[in-house]
Amino acid sequence: MIKSLCVFCGSSVGVDHRFKEAAIAMGEYLAKNKITLVYGGGRIGLMGLMAEAALKNGGSVVGVIPKFLSTSEIKHDGLTQCYEVDDMHTRKQMMYQLSDAFVAMPGGFGTLDELFEIITWHQLLLHEKPVAIYNVEGYFDPLLEMIHKMHTQKFIPSNFSTFIKNANTLEKVMELVS
Ligand code: AMP
Repeated sequence: MIKSLCVFCGSSVGVDHRFKEAAIAMGEYLAKNKITLVYGGGRIGLMGLMAEAALKNGGSVVGVIPKFLSTSEIKHDGLTQCYEVDDMHTRKQMMYQLSDAFVAMPGGFGTLDELFEIITWHQLLLHEKPVAIYNVEGYFDPLLEMIHKMHTQKFIPSNFSTFIKNANTLEKVMELVS
């Protein structure tokens, strides 16, 4: 069983209210299962809702935030631990080091950037930590289609499904990364 999970997700809440519900459920699940949540350290968007839900349920939450984002509007002040780092690259490296596995939930460019960096490191055999897309309400369907196309056009290795998995329920996602 993993001890810590890094979740990449939106610094906005999106439109579909089910994304918020999924982020809250993720926070609650991690707290109840004593898995430390590692994330970007913000109090805004889906990331803030998830962190808040984990804390409310007695969970351990570790944030890693670059100094330039560490303002009172953005940073969550009630975390178990929060690392302030110099830049975005150090942040990703540190989130990687602190985590046993990674899940991406609905989000924007930041979420995709974090997801694809961790997948690329896996593809280059720099690590073997599990990575999964939590495809809440089909949000990532177009991305999964693109990944399928990259595969059929032989731009990604034939074994890509060993290092990037996906599921559409919380239980299945947690099985994939545990
Ligand atoms: P996005 O999907 O573009 O909203 O970016 C969300 C992801 O990027 C999160 O997983 C964070 O680690 C990081 N991120 C982007 N913007 C912020 C922010 N304003 N505060 C904290 N983290 C952020």
